[in-house]
Amino acid sequence: MFAAMSAETSVEAHREQIANRLGEPDRLRFPTGWTMSSSWQRAQAAPSKVGAANPAEFDVLLGYVDDDGLAKHRVLFALYEGNLVAECECDGYRFRGWCAHVALLWWKWSREDLAVTDLDAGRTHLSPPWWLSVDDAERDRVGAEPDHPVAADGGVEQ
Ligand SMILES: [Zn+2]
Repeated sequence: MFAAMSAETSVEAHREQIANRLGEPDRLRFPTGWTMSSSWQRAQAAPSKVGAANPAEFDVLLGYVDDDGLAKHRVLFALYEGNLVAECECDGYRFRGWCAHVALLWWKWSREDLAVTDLDAGRTHLSPPWWLSVDDAERDRVGAEPDHPVAADGGVEQ
């Protein structure tokens, strides 16, 4: 019971933290051709470990397809005001708004392998809820051509 109470307080605290900061958190947007991006390929193929750092953020350890060394990044990935907000500290995310770390979290979540917190409702979702619409996610999923060459978006170098 005490654990449940403190978890609730923690969700609320993280929601407050996001609400009070300067600037809105980024809504996750999928770049054109994201299913062919090297970030997406790497997210699925490279060794990785993901752990919840707090209700709003994950610690993502991600290696490379041909290298087991894991680099750690703290990634915001949560539901906030009905949107999926995502932010990563890496250069790839800063310059493109998309990186292998965010891609990995989306991949895990869409396979029901991640618990993402709805900061407003104080509950977690083990897969993207039906009401969540993420720009471009569906369009690219439908239009993906499996034999299209992998686009070099720098995902392998982050
Ligand atoms: Zn990143």
